[in-house]
Amino acid sequence: MINWSSERAEELYNVKKWGEGHFGVQSDGLVHINTSLTEKPSSVSIHQVIENLVSSGHEMPVLLRIANTLDERIRYLHKSFQEAIEKRGYLNQYKGVFPIKVNQQQHVVAHIAGFGKQFHHGLEVGSKAELIAAMSFLDDPMALLILNGYKDREFVDLGLYAQQIGMNVVFVLEMQSELDLILKQAQLIDVEPSFGVRMRLSTQTSGTWAQSSGDRSVFGLTASQVIEVVDQLKSQNKLHLLNMLHYHLGSQIPDINQIRSGVQEATLIYRDLAREGADMKILDLGGGLGVDYDGSLSNNPNSRNYTLEEYCDVIVYEIKSGLDNTGVAEPIIVTESGRATVAYSSVLIFNILDQHNHSELPKIPDLPSNKETIVRLRNINEALNTDNFHELYNEASFLKAQIEDSFKHHTMNLRERGEGESIYWHFMSRLAKILQAIDIDKIPEVLHEHRRVPMDVYYGNFSLFQSLPDVWAIDQVLPVVPIHRLDERPMERAILSDITCDCDGKLDTFLNQSELGFPVHKLKKDEEYYLGVFLVGAYQETLGDLHNLLGDTHVVTIEITDQDEYNIVGQIEGDSVQDVLSYVEYDSIKLSERFNHFVDKSVQSGAVSIDESRIIKKAYQVGLEGYTYFERN
Ligand code: PLP
Repeated sequence: MINWSSERAEELYNVKKWGEGHFGVQSDGLVHINTSLTEKPSSVSIHQVIENLVSSGHEMPVLLRIANTLDERIRYLHKSFQEAIEKRGYLNQYKGVFPIKVNQQQHVVAHIAGFGKQFHHGLEVGSKAELIAAMSFLDDPMALLILNGYKDREFVDLGLYAQQIGMNVVFVLEMQSELDLILKQAQLIDVEPSFGVRMRLSTQTSGTWAQSSGDRSVFGLTASQVIEVVDQLKSQNKLHLLNMLHYHLGSQIPDINQIRSGVQEATLIYRDLAREGADMKILDLGGGLGVDYDGSLSNNPNSRNYTLEEYCDVIVYEIKSGLDNTGVAEPIIVTESGRATVAYSSVLIFNILDQHNHSELPKIPDLPSNKETIVRLRNINEALNTDNFHELYNEASFLKAQIEDSFKHHTMNLRERGEGESIYWHFMSRLAKILQAIDIDKIPEVLHEHRRVPMDVYYGNFSLFQSLPDVWAIDQVLPVVPIHRLDERPMERAILSDITCDCDGKLDTFLNQSELGFPVHKLKKDEEYYLGVFLVGAYQETLGDLHNLLGDTHVVTIEITDQDEYNIVGQIEGDSVQDVLSYVEYDSIKLSERFNHFVDKSVQSGAVSIDESRIIKKAYQVGLEGYTYFERN
């Protein structure tokens, strides 16, 4: 097409910005995954991976995990901190930990523990279950195992045993009462625990998780509680066990200056804890490193106004200068970056099943009705212009309501009601065009929403509630891009609806512009159309739910090799129908028995033959064992 190219598509979908080099659009119109971890830079088209999966019998949707991207993020984090440490002449090191609440899937945790070993990248846990998972993967005495969360005796004992077998454990005190319990249990097995205190900073952040920060946050100890912990340890001659200060200001912090204020405040607290006599070694800044989901590099909640390099430099600089001339040694810097570590490495791929053309207006019949309301509506539609739109909108709304009333009171039939509605939608579509041409400040507020022309709906084979819960829960904007045909101009604009029959089950915000819909291509009759939702590796999998009993999707993990090729290194089947039914307490054997009994009764009554009954029973069994999503075959 004239004036269109893959580069234009890359710009339209902003791939370069949010993709941070991990994804790009090539001249073949396909979205590629790039990696530089191999001997020479290498790349693979996602469409090719999907075509191969489909031809080997896989159904959509699929969550694609890219092992190289996860590795690259860990390496990038360490490299950026190392560079900042060298640049500022910082006299200690950086150690990362992965908070496994952000993605607890076994493959992900195992991969981080394995690849991260070269950097002594550790794990942070917040519950017993997370600790039990972490204890069997973290095989590096130099990597930290940080125990956050509220701890009962079993949790404490497990942590102490982990330390006994050589793991580098830090117990973070979330509540004062934990101190006595940990000391008591540690004495029983003769282990010296290492403590951290989680402190509630007064620094306030903005963005979606602002409530995790500031004086009113519910997490962490106040300054007076921290001092009580210090005094308690002092009185038992155990202050040397206090080694770490921890804080967490919330996830996805959009503004670098909020990060800066937090580090400044924490450095002062760290300094004073050291001056109190604690054997301080580690400053753990928690999570919060943002992901630029919309590629705008701004401080809106779906972005962040800083790069990773800047984040690292600010932290290193502020700690160093805060401790300058204080006599307190510079600490090991720890961050618990979850989102920024794993978001990039997963992409949800789904196919489009059908479309509904809302933008095509309904036909107005050739033989018009002469009912008064309809005649008036027709006249209004013809008279609409830039001077009278507000009053005619009021009248048109009134007439539409009258038409609906007349139908309910039997004075208008279905055909007449249909005609009235068609004229009304023609009117609304013309109104939208008029409103779009006018400055929004000059439009009465009641008409703002009518600037939006009704958009086409593309029905995607996925569940928002299962695979993208943050879109529903917190209006998260995620980059959505067709993974192929990008050398063709996308001529349509559409909302992407899922298959949950729920009006909230839709993606309707393209790069923060909710009025525009997603640029998509016209569907072709005999060709699948695939879209990818990118940056979904953080939080989405475990938070997803079973709305409409649509279960976990298939997961395929690939590793890209040197030769622009890839290997499949992990495959997990998505939930079957009987799996999801078992989560809501159905027993599939009993279900089959009950259903077969109904079929047998139909045979006895003569409603179906024996042969038909076999087909029906088989279909039920196949349905039980099948995928919960729309299957093409
Ligand atoms: N650490 C703690 C204590 C958290 O509660 C969280 C999540 O909110 C994280 C780390 C991870 O934060 P992020 O995903 O923003 O890096």
